[in-house]
Amino acid sequence: MDQVLIDTHCHLNDPAFESTLPDVIERAGAAGVRGFIVPAYDRVSLKRTADLASLYPGAILPSYGIHPWYAGDNINYDILLSYLRRQDTVALGEIGLDFAPDAPPEPTQIEIFTRQLNLARELNLPVLLHCRNAHDTLYQILKGYWGGVQGVMHSFSGNYEFMQRFIDLGFSISFSGSVTRKRAKKYHRNAQAVPLDRLLVETDAPSIATESTVASAVEPRHCAEVARKVAELRGIPFEEVCTRTAGNARRLFRLP
Ligand SMILES: [Zn+2]
Repeated sequence: MDQVLIDTHCHLNDPAFESTLPDVIERAGAAGVRGFIVPAYDRVSLKRTADLASLYPGAILPSYGIHPWYAGDNINYDILLSYLRRQDTVALGEIGLDFAPDAPPEPTQIEIFTRQLNLARELNLPVLLHCRNAHDTLYQILKGYWGGVQGVMHSFSGNYEFMQRFIDLGFSISFSGSVTRKRAKKYHRNAQAVPLDRLLVETDAPSIATESTVASAVEPRHCAEVARKVAELRGIPFEEVCTRTAGNARRLFRLP
């Protein structure tokens, strides 16, 4: 298999992968998936992410940040900064806003989100953005960083109009297993319309199901299923989706 895919968002740092990681990475390789951007999400996962990046240098590409679900935790920005300054860090994230009813209070989320955006701007790191039920607020905040912060709307769940607005701000759009589902019309439309130079693919393993696999069993190898679906939706060869998305990831995350 010649094509190479980069899974731009997978939680190989999730305890679910602790005992299976070597096999998961081997299966991904057999499916052509050779790069894994692994975002930390809370304080404990910062260290685990760094450890994994040292174990699989050049394959596990670490990103550090505090997810909005953990906005209520006592966040130590000095510790976060020490991870962000490591040589092999490719991004800041995952960060963002999640206005689901059971998430931390919105003002707390907005505060830690903007503090981390400030760090991204200072350190010149791209950001991995989580956004649920908060697209307008997130857009308004990002607008204030126009030209100063780049990044990805990870597993983008907004509508076509919001997608265009984030693209206009310079952001890339990443598709996960959601786009593979037969009736996911909103995702299909977005995957057909996103400019090829802003398109990325990911699995968000182990939390988003694909058409073929339940969420808990999703691994980075399923990135190929996502890419295949995007190719089918756009009527272009699978290999082209691989080449373009891997090239986009290399450019955005400044990979060799
Ligand atoms: Zn994630």
